[in-house]
Amino acid sequence: AATLIDGRAVARKVRDQVAADVAAFTAETGVTPGLATLLVGDDAASAVYVANKRRACVEAGIADLHRHLPADVSQDEVVAQLQELNADPQVSGILLQLPVPKHLDSNLLIGLISPDKDVDGLTAVSAGRLVQGVPGLRPCTPSGVIELLDHHEVPLEGAEAVVVGRSELVGKPVAQLLLQRHATVTICHSRTRDLNAVARRADVLIAAVGVPRLIGADAVKPGATVIDVGINRTDAGLVGDVDFDAVREVAGLITPVPGGVGPMTIALLLRNTLTAARLQRGV
Ligand code: NAD
Repeated sequence: AATLIDGRAVARKVRDQVAADVAAFTAETGVTPGLATLLVGDDAASAVYVANKRRACVEAGIADLHRHLPADVSQDEVVAQLQELNADPQVSGILLQLPVPKHLDSNLLIGLISPDKDVDGLTAVSAGRLVQGVPGLRPCTPSGVIELLDHHEVPLEGAEAVVVGRSELVGKPVAQLLLQRHATVTICHSRTRDLNAVARRADVLIAAVGVPRLIGADAVKPGATVIDVGINRTDAGLVGDVDFDAVREVAGLITPVPGGVGPMTIALLLRNTLTAARLQRGV
């Protein structure tokens, strides 16, 4: 059976390293990195996510500069808040928690975030920097996937990597990061013909689909590394996009859900906030 990738342990290691790096940065510059989480409305799940991010910041020595706006806030008011955060030197990173209420234009709002403060890596400028391979802020979950692969010293150069899913948030950026590491990258999506045949070529298989247990044992080459980004709520509890019980018999390395990629996202958000603080100092 496959070796399990312990995302909680790797995330802990990253968070401890970020905390040490933040302390060194603050000692050297006198600047405390700060993260402004912006929550609009009262969505219960979003409130939990934001609370977790804020707690993680404080633990890492990052200032918690949270703002909460009412669900019926006007678009102009959110725009004004974002502009204020862009201009505020205390604010290293800005995170607009998604989804925002329907009357707001989330693409327009994200586009206003200064690229050097874009800790979610979602602006067009950040996406462009990623594609061009120049310094910038990369999306957190894709960076977390690479971090897990590196922790287990999974060879990427020349390897066949298959990414299932082509979202702006996960699929596309993780494919770009793998390409930068010299993998041979294939991206599959809902219109891919014979997904299993393509996936079976992979030395490294990344599932970011949002369909419970889509990836079965017959989609996995024996010994492959399988990273399951999916988080799906089902009657049987949280499950990934990979049929874990079947695939673990075939794969060489595999992430569980929960406890795999999930914990990495916050760890990389903290690292991005420190990177943003450095970018603002022109480092
Ligand atoms: P999305 O819905 O934006 O994108 C899904 C992608 O999967 C699309 O590109 C689509 O083409 C593809 N797809 C859909 N059905 C398919 C099929 N049958 N075969 C092949 N491809 C198919 O989703 P997303 O935002 O990329 O998220 C994907 C999953 O990852 C979700 O379960 C989400 O909850 C999870 N997620 C986890 C984290 C984390 O671990 N922190 C972060 C983001 C997303």
